[in-house]
Amino acid sequence: MTTFVWDYLPEYRSEREDILDAVETVFESGQLVLGKSVRQFEEEFASYHGVDHCVGVDNGTNAIALGLEALGVGRGDEVITVSNTAAPTVVAIDSVGATPVFVDVREEDFLMDTDLVEAAITPRTKCLLPVHLYGQCVDMEPLRRLADRHGLRILEDCAQSHAATHHGRIAGTMGDAAAFSFYPTKVLGAYGDGGGVITSDPEVNANLRRLRYYGMEKVYYVVDTPGHNSRLDEVHAEILRRKLRRLDDYVAGRRDVARRYEEGLGDTGLLLPANAEGNTHVFYVYVVRHPRRDDILAALKERYDISLNISYPWPVHTMTGFAHLGWEKGSLPVTEKLADEIFSLPMYPSLPVELQEKVITAVREVVTSL
Ligand SMILES: *Cc1c(COP(=O)(O)O)cnc(C)c1O
Repeated sequence: MTTFVWDYLPEYRSEREDILDAVETVFESGQLVLGKSVRQFEEEFASYHGVDHCVGVDNGTNAIALGLEALGVGRGDEVITVSNTAAPTVVAIDSVGATPVFVDVREEDFLMDTDLVEAAITPRTKCLLPVHLYGQCVDMEPLRRLADRHGLRILEDCAQSHAATHHGRIAGTMGDAAAFSFYPTKVLGAYGDGGGVITSDPEVNANLRRLRYYGMEKVYYVVDTPGHNSRLDEVHAEILRRKLRRLDDYVAGRRDVARRYEEGLGDTGLLLPANAEGNTHVFYVYVVRHPRRDDILAALKERYDISLNISYPWPVHTMTGFAHLGWEKGSLPVTEKLADEIFSLPMYPSLPVELQEKVITAVREVVTSL
C-alpha cells in the first residue's frame, strides 16, 4: 500500500551533513542538557518572532500545558477553544485541571468562529486558546478586544502555523504567549519531540523556566512550587537552530506544492483550502473537502492503492475520553459536518514532484468520475 502521507527521508538526505554536524556539535560540547544549543535556539526563535523570550520544552502538548500554567490557568478555570483541532490541544487543557469550552468553526476556512466566543465566556473563563489550524491564523483582533474587555489571557496554539502571518503579524505574537510543537512533521520539525513557548511577558517567561525545571527557580535543588521535567533536548535544539535558518525555504516549498494542487485540481469540484482575509497560509496540512469524501477515499485505495489521511476524522468533543464534558453530538454542527467531508493531500516541502503528480492524476480521475 502506498500511503504518500509523509516522509522525512528526502529532506534528511539533502541536509544530512548539517544534521549530523548538529549532533556532533552537541556531543562534543560537554553539555547534554540545557546547554548552549537550547539557549541559542531560544534566542534565535524569539528573535525570528520579534518577541523577548522563548522557552524550549519537550513537546507541543506540554508547551500548551506549561503555557496555560504560566498564564495562571488551573483547576476550575475554563479555557475557550475549538473541537476542530488535534486532540493534544484539549489534552493539554485537561492536564492542568481546566475545563475546555468549545466554540464552532467557520465553514469557509475551518478556523475558530470568533463571533461565537463572547457568548461562551462565563465568570470562570480565564483564557482564550485559538488554534491556528492547518497553517493559517485565527482572526486575532476580535479575540484581543474580548480578552481586554473581560480580563482574559490569550494562548495561541501555533503547532501548525510556524511563520504564518495575519495582517502582517507573525503567528505567536498576537496573544500573551504562544505554544509551538517541533514534532518532526511540523513546519519546523526536530528529529524527535520538541516544543517551545514564546512570550514578551517577563513573568510568564520566569514561570515557564521554573515549570519546565521541576519547579526550581534560583537555587538548584530547591523547589518552591512543584513543576515538571519538560526540557527541550540539546540535540533537537541544535538541529532546530540549523533548520530555523531554512524555515522560510520550507514554507516556500509547501506553497509550491499547494500551487501544483491548485493547478491540477482547481477545476474538479473538490473544495481546495481558502485563504482567509489578511492571512498568509503555510500549508502544514493541505485539507480539501467533498461531500462524497468516503467514496473518494475508497476509490483511491481500490483503483490506485493510495491511502490518504484525514485531519481529523473525529472532532474532539465526540471522543470517549471527553464524554464527561457533556458535549452532545450536534452541538457543534459545522465542526461535525467538516469532519465527515474533509481529507488531506500529501504535503511536505520535499514531497517528490512525481509522487505529487501521481496523487493529482488519481484524485482528478476519481473526483471527476463520481
Ligand atoms: C501537533 C499538535 C500539538 C501537539 O504537539 P506535540 O509536539 O505532538 O505534543 C498540539 N496542537 C496542535 C494543533 C498540533 O497540531
